[in-house]
Amino acid sequence: MQGAFQEVGARFGFSEVEASYYPFKEFKTTWQRIGPRASFKVTDYLQGAEPRVMEDFAACLFTRVQRHRRELYTPVVTEYLRSEEFLRLNQRKYIDRSRNLALSPMGEVYDLRVLLNSLRRKGLVEDGEGTYLSWTDKPNRFRMGYCSTLMKVVAISSALDSKMVPDFAAEYVLYHEMLHLITRSDSLRSYHDAEFKRLERRYPRWREAENWLKQVSRGSVA
Ligand SMILES: [Zn+2]
Repeated sequence: MQGAFQEVGARFGFSEVEASYYPFKEFKTTWQRIGPRASFKVTDYLQGAEPRVMEDFAACLFTRVQRHRRELYTPVVTEYLRSEEFLRLNQRKYIDRSRNLALSPMGEVYDLRVLLNSLRRKGLVEDGEGTYLSWTDKPNRFRMGYCSTLMKVVAISSALDSKMVPDFAAEYVLYHEMLHLITRSDSLRSYHDAEFKRLERRYPRWREAENWLKQVSRGSVA
């Protein structure tokens, strides 16, 4: 990997390049640059990537370093990040690094797998195979759900796993997170554009569900 970075770096005019893997929880890479020297801490989720993927990834990073702007990944990189192979190598690792998960879709009241099936029956989610579903270990009232589209992990706040909360409220949050997976917009970046909202409102009881979520976040539902 260091070799790939040095070779690509030379093309961008860098004479000294260091690169090593680093176990960030999220998929990220950091760097320091002083003149023609650069050192990178590269997400270790790329450890199993083929050389051509690493070369493209490195080129993308050097472009960012030089131009101070985000560069879109090349098709080779994107294809790898969306592959079964990438998930097989990394999903478990990501889950192990996620400290806020109950590590189970089976809650005290609701089973997220049952809710996902209900979304399938409604025709709102087509497959969702390979998605890792879990309740959070602590009931977060302010963040009802989150997902990693890259790792296909969806977590729903256990604040919704309560007899006091109707199943459709939890199902609606699950639908919201599954939509991030389907549209490949990451909830970490809170990507909720008009198209996203339009899809979200295909959920039959969205208005009622949102009212419930407001009540849960106010703490008026125990
Ligand atoms: Zn969202």
